[in-house]
Amino acid sequence: MKLHETGEFGFIKMIHDRFPNADAGVLRGIGDDAAVLKKDDENALLVTTDLLIENVHFLRSDISLKELGHKALAVNLSDIAAMGGSAKTAVISLAVHADEDVEQLLELYEGMELLAKRHNAELVGGDTSISKNGMFISVTVLGEADTDCILYRDGAQTGDTIYVSGCLGDSAYGLGVILGKWRCAPSLCAYFRKAHHLPEPQLAEGRFFAKSGLVHAMMDLSDGLSSDLGHICTASGKGAHIFEEAIPLSDPLKEATVDDPAARTISSLHGGEDYCLLLTGHPGLEFRFMEAFGRPLYPIGEIVDEPGLRLINKKAESVSISPKGHDHFLRRA
Ligand code: ADP
Ligand code: MG
Repeated sequence: MKLHETGEFGFIKMIHDRFPNADAGVLRGIGDDAAVLKKDDENALLVTTDLLIENVHFLRSDISLKELGHKALAVNLSDIAAMGGSAKTAVISLAVHADEDVEQLLELYEGMELLAKRHNAELVGGDTSISKNGMFISVTVLGEADTDCILYRDGAQTGDTIYVSGCLGDSAYGLGVILGKWRCAPSLCAYFRKAHHLPEPQLAEGRFFAKSGLVHAMMDLSDGLSSDLGHICTASGKGAHIFEEAIPLSDPLKEATVDDPAARTISSLHGGEDYCLLLTGHPGLEFRFMEAFGRPLYPIGEIVDEPGLRLINKKAESVSISPKGHDHFLRRA
């Protein structure tokens, strides 16, 4: 069987079947945003890793090394946020061509350093290798959380409100603009580039949700709403209704897609890398979030018993949707 037939997630499931993570010290192994390891009676260690590869995840012509350093760390911090934890340390493995400019490479570390400082995380090691074919950056972040408060993907309950903690689609639209697939007014280009290259991990928000006692399931939005909500539903044995009108869109995305509803839907419903949080829990949480953070938390739907995702569109029709977000290998029809 080929990887393009199983897809990324089919393959990960096969790995999980082989490593069921039965050790009592592994509170959660493969299958969530971070692994959860028992530290002591009250605290857990969180571990997450992500790999960024030149010409797959980024194009050198489009992103500065400082931005790339930020993004490589941010996507990992976002996985710690998704569990409701705090980031503590990071290790960075880097493979680069021998002709790389050292001063420029250090800018990669400057991007990481600025972000790490803001979240009280520290770089404690890594590995360096030559690459004959583009740059590879692998970041692993270790974090901590109160074991009782950690939020997993599999806790969604029927009747839960589904929330997102930021506007959707800006990063995916930004990628479309960078690749020349979509257009935007020159005044908006910087906004979309920033959304794609400089995601802000929502660690304080993640901890707020974990401590609230009102949230049942959480993950970060890296692959796109349809895929990521699909992961929560599959893990929880539930389904979801999403209200199209409730999906939050930024003013720049509304403006840029005013004549292109397809681009709006693709980027906001299926587009990835927004790195805000997707969670399910008690209704009314948006008011407590507003009090705490002075910005909105967006209710966008409801968890239901019946499996599958349905979009309730603007005409109040219920349309079945399948996950169309990012999968490295799947060839979709
Ligand atoms: P995220 O998008 O939150 O970073 P992924 O979709 O990359 O999560 O991974 C989902 C789960 O699969 C995680 O628990 C991750 O650790 C695990 N995983 C991904 N790739 C592998 C692999 N090659 N071997 C073992 N586990 C993997
Ligand atoms: Mg994640």
